[in-house]
Amino acid sequence: MFRPSGRLNAWRLRGLSCFGWAAPLLLAGVLRMSPEVSERWGWSGAWLQPVGDPHAVPISSNGDPTAYQVMRSVEEREGKVRGHQGADLSNGRGGGPVRAAGNGLVVKVGGKGWNRGYGRHVVLAHRLADGAIAYSVYAHLAPGSVTVRRGQFVSAGRVIGKVGMTGRATSPHLHFEIRIAEDPGLRWENAPVVDPLAFVDARIASPRSDSTWARPYLAWAECAALIRPGEDGHRTVSRAQWWQALAAATNSVEAVPANQESLRMVLVQASLLPGDARGDRESSLGWKELARDLRRAREQGLRLPWSPVERTVRLRDCRREFGVDSPAHNPTSLAEGHEGPPTRADVCLALADLAGDDPASLSRPRGSRSARRAPGARMIARATGDTADAPRRLSDDGHPPASPRPAKAKS
Ligand SMILES: [Zn+2]
Repeated sequence: MFRPSGRLNAWRLRGLSCFGWAAPLLLAGVLRMSPEVSERWGWSGAWLQPVGDPHAVPISSNGDPTAYQVMRSVEEREGKVRGHQGADLSNGRGGGPVRAAGNGLVVKVGGKGWNRGYGRHVVLAHRLADGAIAYSVYAHLAPGSVTVRRGQFVSAGRVIGKVGMTGRATSPHLHFEIRIAEDPGLRWENAPVVDPLAFVDARIASPRSDSTWARPYLAWAECAALIRPGEDGHRTVSRAQWWQALAAATNSVEAVPANQESLRMVLVQASLLPGDARGDRESSLGWKELARDLRRAREQGLRLPWSPVERTVRLRDCRREFGVDSPAHNPTSLAEGHEGPPTRADVCLALADLAGDDPASLSRPRGSRSARRAPGARMIARATGDTADAPRRLSDDGHPPASPRPAKAKS
């Protein structure tokens, strides 16, 4: 869920906005952002570990020979990262799936070659709830294993490649980095590094071991910052919680005030709530309000990843839970005929229906994919205005540089 942020607005003031009006931004210094992509680029809420158990930090094998262990961590000297820039994760063999740690946008796919020691690698950009950008880096991937391309949106959990030993590696392992950028135009290699496993663990998605129809929708909503990790799907939703989710789901709100009255005003300003929208913020959201706001959200534009569940299954879920096939097509049909207020699972199902389906999945032959895809589903595959990478300067040993070089703002 959101925390208040002034950073996105700061980008706008500096003319670096990737959110609409300013000159195209080179995100991470390598990917030209079109307004179409920046409007659709959603929030990264809950995260997953990139290899092994998605919900647990790989620490020790506990006797399991397939479990991943940390071979090497981020190295610090005098409180600053000066040595190794990521975590090396290995279970002693190559070929294991590497998953996207959070919902993100592919800004770089480094192919064949040394690539400054990274070998074959993928870099994702994530919009964090606090308004900063995080880059996740997956290096030494196996030849021919990368399944994503630059400009593509991917969901947390989506398999993006396999563990290998390309580049500067003497045994198969994943070199995993997280870098935090306050300036989205700064090249990703120059953004400061944080401990990647601790970063992910602090935002870890809940395992959601229940097997009800609601699980994929709730997992999807966690990763998209619509609900907090572990929030109970059976519980009702307060008006304040719904307003937060509404802000996260739509592309007309850039920063969400912590103060609920300010949030209400921002939503009114964005035409997501009517001017007279009031009511006790802690009391349960009603069906009429949900129907009204979904219609407005659809009209204003969405920032949601594609539905985690394919259309036929989702329509069946909607029919069973709501008594209508698709609330996205007719939100007002949700307003009547329910016992009790909507639960969190109901709200997530309605939002997933509003998000709709990845056009790529609709064009696949029926039966080619399993019906339920969350949370590793494809989000959107859309070509963006590409740009060639700037010329690279290799470090002396060809390894990823030990400390960030001075940043140069791109305009
Ligand atoms: Zn490494």
